[in-house]
Amino acid sequence: TKDGVKGFFKRNAFVLFTVAAVILGIILGFALRPYKMSYREVKYFSFPGELLMRMLQMLVLPLLVSSLITGMAALDGRASGKMGLRAVVYYTTTTVIAVFIGIVLVLVIHPGKGSKDEFTKQPKIEEINASDAFLDLIRNMIPPNLVEACTKQFKTQYAKRVVLVRITVNDTVFTLNGSEEITREETIPVPGSVNGVNALGLVVFSICFGLIIGSMKEQGKPLKDFFDCLNEAVMRLVAIIMWYAPIGILFLIAGKIVEMDDITSMGGQLAMYTVTVICGLTIHAVVVLPTLYFIITRKNPYVFIAGLLQALITALGTSSSSATLPVTFKCLEENNKVDKRVTRFVLPVGATINMDGTALYEALAAIFIAQVNDYDLTFGQILTISITATAASIGAAGIPQAGLVTMVIVLTSVGLPTDDITLIIAVDWFLDRLRTTTNVLGDSIGAGIVEHLSRHELQKKDPEVGNSVVEE
Ligand code: ASP
Repeated sequence: TKDGVKGFFKRNAFVLFTVAAVILGIILGFALRPYKMSYREVKYFSFPGELLMRMLQMLVLPLLVSSLITGMAALDGRASGKMGLRAVVYYTTTTVIAVFIGIVLVLVIHPGKGSKDEFTKQPKIEEINASDAFLDLIRNMIPPNLVEACTKQFKTQYAKRVVLVRITVNDTVFTLNGSEEITREETIPVPGSVNGVNALGLVVFSICFGLIIGSMKEQGKPLKDFFDCLNEAVMRLVAIIMWYAPIGILFLIAGKIVEMDDITSMGGQLAMYTVTVICGLTIHAVVVLPTLYFIITRKNPYVFIAGLLQALITALGTSSSSATLPVTFKCLEENNKVDKRVTRFVLPVGATINMDGTALYEALAAIFIAQVNDYDLTFGQILTISITATAASIGAAGIPQAGLVTMVIVLTSVGLPTDDITLIIAVDWFLDRLRTTTNVLGDSIGAGIVEHLSRHELQKKDPEVGNSVVEE
């Protein structure tokens, strides 16, 4: 490579450390399980992991805004319009394919058998009205107060979810009704928000603002330089955090394994459901996306994916595609040499709205719940599910288990009981990690594809911002 043996070693050392961290985390987690740690002990134990999450989330906001603004300002209106169109076509196509795979698999494998007896019912989930949630989504595209959009914990007045809490006093877990957990109601962040921040609104604003700065030519230069510099500085911070990432990932994974419920007691239907989701995500991530990449670019997709390894493992460890965003940037730009003008647009927008894994899972889970209820779906209802699953995946924030919340939209659209989301909560933490990894892969492959399709426009414009001119 062009930065020599040292750079090559550095990159591979990262990947080696990260893979080692995953393996060690799994071993450590299972080794500590017999000790039955209390909730508080688990919290202490996974503290290094919590710190990683916080570091990554800290960078998301400045990264999202600066990359979108500089990305848009670097292209002229027509070029960015074309690139935007290609990205949107890619997002839509892959999401539709993902939903299709999910539906076909759940209909063929038929994991739900029309009996709820074997499930342990969990707490009630309150209804979110599909149209209210949709209006929320649009509403948040236009934040009335930009400062507030960056800082305030956005909440919706309609949506409510139930979160499980355990109260631990002197290491005794206090419970209600003799069960291990008690429940508490909490309003959820609105659709489109990322870790309390109204990401969708900021994305929309940054795109418009960047385009305007770009159109101002000389006059816009100070602002363009400012955001360029901000972006570069944030990426340097990311580089430092990457050295800590393996430690964080080790403890995130070990901590989760220590606290997870015993899988051997899982019912047959839930086990089959889990297998079906895993199959679907695997087909989409290992076959469909790479094939699409190969057909369009004629390059080896697995070499491309190998360059993304660290981002994919971070997604697996954090369960959040927005927290992974900084690492995704780093992998794409440094390992895969994707043009910055492309990543700066495709990644932040993708991390906010393009979630193939989530779409696949939402459609599949909704039909599974119908099967468990012995509820025959008509073709029209399956179509409704596929449309609402797509919308729900756009609305889901890139934070852990956001998809579980937006599932309510899918279920209400065909009149299925929203309470039944609780049937799949037990395995969701695990499936969430897999779908997050698929989401990150989808965004990254999208960047590769959009770069290839936009190579002619990219050759002409502003070469100083991009990496060396795209070869072709
Ligand atoms: N955790 C997922 C993500 O960050 C969203 C989901 O729950 O499906 O991409």
